[in-house]
Formats: sequence, structure tokens, C-alpha cells
Amino acid sequence: MIDVNCYNCKSNKKKLILKQTGKDTYLELIHKNKGSLFNKWFSCLDCGFIYRSPVLTEPEIKKMYDLYDTLVMKPDADSYFDRIFNLPKKISENYQKCVWFKKNALKNLPSFNKISFIEVGSGSGLFMATAKKYLNIEKIYGVEPNTKMRKLAEKKVGTKVFKKLSEVREKFDFIFVLKVLEHIKDPRKFLKEIKKISKKKTTFFFEVPDVVDFINLKDDNSRFWIPHIYYFNRKTLFSILNEFNMKVITSRTIISNNKRSFFQLLVKNI
Ligand SMILES: [Zn+2]
Repeated sequence: MIDVNCYNCKSNKKKLILKQTGKDTYLELIHKNKGSLFNKWFSCLDCGFIYRSPVLTEPEIKKMYDLYDTLVMKPDADSYFDRIFNLPKKISENYQKCVWFKKNALKNLPSFNKISFIEVGSGSGLFMATAKKYLNIEKIYGVEPNTKMRKLAEKKVGTKVFKKLSEVREKFDFIFVLKVLEHIKDPRKFLKEIKKISKKKTTFFFEVPDVVDFINLKDDNSRFWIPHIYYFNRKTLFSILNEFNMKVITSRTIISNNKRSFFQLLVKNI
């Protein structure tokens, strides 16, 4: 258990904005009945960044992500994948992402020949499979550290999924980073790494939960569980991206049927 200051500006001036209630199933994987020790979300009084403190130690984080699939892929890997992949378009978050991406990022492309796609943090491959189906993308690569999820994605999508970003040797035209940044302890280090697999004209599609969750969701919502350690608002995320010479082209926040929010951004290298 580690108490932390604001990741964005290092300030220790903070205001408590939420105390989680209820059981945190991911925390239970590694610490039984210790929810009350890990239930605090703060807003930085200097920059507005929202973060949890305390956080897990590195070995605890590793253990949690090694076991992550056991909570996600229920009742078994195949039926989990098939159930979400076959959701009606109207309620499929992945389908809606494809529509928005197509409208805003693919409209001026002459053809898909020689255009390359990769999803970093591809989980069990549900977005990759949806993108292949609805965007007519022939090949999309993935990166996913969890072994069971990586294997499932390879099987279902029929593609190569790398274990680590450092294994990827090519550069890509489109890089998807969906629901990843809010899990990562050092997003600046991560952004530096993904820049290495980008080209001058690469478009990135980022997605994170929006801070409006703190208004719309109850204190026991799974959004506030231990795998999520940060909430980016427009100001903090735009300024971090700017440090890496990345510029936001367009963005939107959407609210799903179950009131969860998604802040989505298309970003270019400048
Ligand atoms: Zn701050």
C-alpha cells in the first residue's frame, strides 16, 4: 500500500471527492476485506487531476493483472467473448466506437491498402474483432500482457497479439489505446513508448472514463474499483499529450446505457 501525490503536477494538496463503498472484486483477488484501506479518490487542488491514494505496490499490481481474466471472462472465455461480440449494434460500445472512428478518422482515406492498425491493451480482442467486422480492416495487431486474454484474442481475431510493447518492431498508421491510460501508473512513460511505434502522420484513438462519472455513478460502481487509478479531465489529458507533441483533433464524451461515461479523443503527432 503506497500513498501517492498528484501524478500530473506532483502536488500533495488534495481534496477527498469520493469514498468507495461496497465490495471491490478486483481488490478481493489480492486483499480480502481491505476495501476500506483503498477507497479514497482525490482531486488535486493545484491542477484538478483526479487520482486514488493509496495505490497497490508493484508486486500487488502484477498479481492482480495476472488474475484479471478470472473475473472478466465469465463463465468461460468463449461464451464471454461471443456474448459481447454479438450484442445488438444499439448497445454495443465497440460498434459505436467504430462508427465514430470511421466518420472522423477514415473518411479521407483513399483505400486501406498498406494502412496498418494496432490496439495497445487489446484485452480479449473484442474491439479488434468488431473493427475487423465493421471497418473492413483486414489486419489489426494487438498488445496484451495477460496471457489468457492474449491467447483468446489471437484465436478469435486471427491475428498476432504481442505480450509487450517493446516486442513491436513496426510503426503503425492507426494506434488504438482504449480504456488503458486510467490503469497505468506512469502514463508519460507509456506515451513515450507508444510514440516509438507511431509514424509522423499516425492517428491515435484514446478512450478513458470521463470525470462526469463522479456525478453520474454511485460510490460502489465498478468504475471506481482498484484497477482504475486516474481520471483525466480535458485540461490534464490535453496538456500531457501536448508534452509529447500530440494534438487533439476531435473529442467527445458519451454516456452508455448504464450511465458509465467514455471520453474519446482522436490525436495526431505534430
Ligand atoms: Zn496536480
